[in-house]
Amino acid sequence: MNEQPLGSTYTLTDRLGAGAMGTVYRGRDKAGAPFAFKVLRPEFAEDPALVQRFVQERSALTQVEHPNVVRMHDLVIEGETLAIVMDLVDGGDLRALLRQEGTLSPAQAAQLAGGIANGLSAVHAAGLVHRDVKPENVLLDRSGTTTVPRVTDFGIARLADAAAATRSTMALGTPNYVAPEIAEGRPATGAADVYSLGIVLYELCAGVTPFEGGSQLAVIRRHGDATAPRPDGIPDQLWAAIRDMLAKGPAERPTMAQIAPYLTNLGVSLAGHPAA
Ligand code: ADP
Ligand code: MG
Repeated sequence: MNEQPLGSTYTLTDRLGAGAMGTVYRGRDKAGAPFAFKVLRPEFAEDPALVQRFVQERSALTQVEHPNVVRMHDLVIEGETLAIVMDLVDGGDLRALLRQEGTLSPAQAAQLAGGIANGLSAVHAAGLVHRDVKPENVLLDRSGTTTVPRVTDFGIARLADAAAATRSTMALGTPNYVAPEIAEGRPATGAADVYSLGIVLYELCAGVTPFEGGSQLAVIRRHGDATAPRPDGIPDQLWAAIRDMLAKGPAERPTMAQIAPYLTNLGVSLAGHPAA
């Protein structure tokens, strides 16, 4: 694509991909620093209530600074365009890694989930709930010696929900990761993110989520009614963590701040003892 200005500060250079919320571009600021830009679908920018809410939440969204979080730097409202300016993270997302690898080793799964949990702890500490934790929303930074997971799109799911409430055409996300209390219509808390991360961790080990198959409604019901089958080859301590994270009652789950160091330490000890 040709270079395109965004407001007076930024230039978009090429298209990185498209998602449910909009299109993502690579670009830079006036000083030449690289960023990723998520240009939201026009219906978001056309809805005054949504724009107002977004602007209200901007300070919370942009204040989260953590190595496991994709930092949102700025929000640009320019004519008909609403765009989020964020860190450029080049290593693809966790969905792509899963597709490529099938399953991960328990050590790598615990290490990645521990990093994600650390990032989500910082999101929760800022008073935000992610609400859409899934492999697609974890970008991978492979610039160093280890692969560092970085969560993205926190706080944005609320906007998508608000849009879905007024626009029945809005596609619903996959129910594979949704906590049982959310499926019942109760408000999302940090505990819902813990549940979703438990599903992600399960998927990293097993290659599939525990309740998939059949209609979306069937999947949603199984979150509350069924018990996840234990995947083959999963160490006891890792299975215990997954089971705790997948507790039906939100209050029975560990908090993100509790599970993060547990998973991180487990990742280290499993890597040191491959036979464990
Ligand atoms: P949505 O949340 O609207 O579904 P995505 O977050 O999936 O959109 O983004 C669409 C595409 O852009 C994906 O292929 C993703 O890998 C890429 N992308 C998203 N955010 C970034 C980023 N910060 N840096 C680099 N690429 C990104
Ligand atoms: Mg996304």
